Amino acid sequence: MSAKNASSIQVCIKVRPCEPGLTSLWQVKEGRSIHLADSHAEPYVFDYVFDEGASNQDVFDRMARHIVHACMQGFNGTIFAYGQTSSGKTYTMMGDERNPGVMVLAAKEIFQQISNETERDFLLRVGYIEIYNEKIYDLLNKKNQDLMIHESGDGIVNVNCKESIVTSEDDLLRLLCMGNKERIVGENNMNERSSRSHAIFRIIIESRKSDHSDDDTINQSVLSLVDLAGSEQVEHADALGHASSLMIFRNLVKSRSENVDVKPNSFRDSKLPRIMLPSLGGNVLTSIICTITPSYVEESSSTISFATCAI
Ligand code: ADP
Ligand code: MG
Repeated sequence: MSAKNASSIQVCIKVRPCEPGLTSLWQVKEGRSIHLADSHAEPYVFDYVFDEGASNQDVFDRMARHIVHACMQGFNGTIFAYGQTSSGKTYTMMGDERNPGVMVLAAKEIFQQISNETERDFLLRVGYIEIYNEKIYDLLNKKNQDLMIHESGDGIVNVNCKESIVTSEDDLLRLLCMGNKERIVGENNMNERSSRSHAIFRIIIESRKSDHSDDDTINQSVLSLVDLAGSEQVEHADALGHASSLMIFRNLVKSRSENVDVKPNSFRDSKLPRIMLPSLGGNVLTSIICTITPSYVEESSSTISFATCAI
């Protein structure tokens, strides 16, 4: 099955465990649907709904592993986490020692695949940027701040961030952790910053046949792993009343899922959608992980409503 023929966008909901003392107001059924526990309305149905007992490994197995495999074969892939602050986006994407997240499991999977591959040689690079207050910060190079976006005539978007070659899983994880630390030191109040910033980790995968006597074509693909700002930022227009970049991004995802062509100049000044446009839609395999806090109704409903539009 080619990646083009497969459904290119998958959407799931992941419900985090309840905070102590609060109760879950949502009910998950058969790993596919979710509804408000006291409502008789039709449940919302998705590719998957992960309940509070699901691990990051479960999410990775269903939402990410096939994308990693496709990227190893030259297709582009994008996985992002969307949801209210504290709903578990960073937990899902990064995780911790006991429950490693999607980014960490992707790194493991990539190097596992490389070690099993006898016919192709791989070259991997990683870049890690953060968008905060419409400025792009290079999380792998402190000296390189307020990055510019370059756009070539054919629509290719480039951010001149540092890209480091990685030759092992440890190498990759070391850079990921280094970037995460950089993200944190940028602001006294870490939660304040991470709830308002988007972090984009990119793995650029190049490969060619080890024996390139007959075929020396280089396959290049990009796997983008994104931890978005808290979805409550959707409502925050700027001082001039312009829609937030997350709102514009949300609309972009909707258009892409409806196969509507999007013109980049419709969001000239908004960094997140400009950077992400080539990584969404077309034949880019995309997984959207929508995280919710089960003791909230309004914010969780808003997240589920985005998820419904994205399918
Ligand atoms: P976000 O990035 O969406 O703001 P976090 O990932 O930082 O949210 O999660 C908020 C808190 O909830 C953290 O302390 C995190 O460890 C905890 N948490 C989130 N999801 C889970 C989960 N599935 N299991 C255990 N703890 C979780
Ligand atoms: Mg976070």
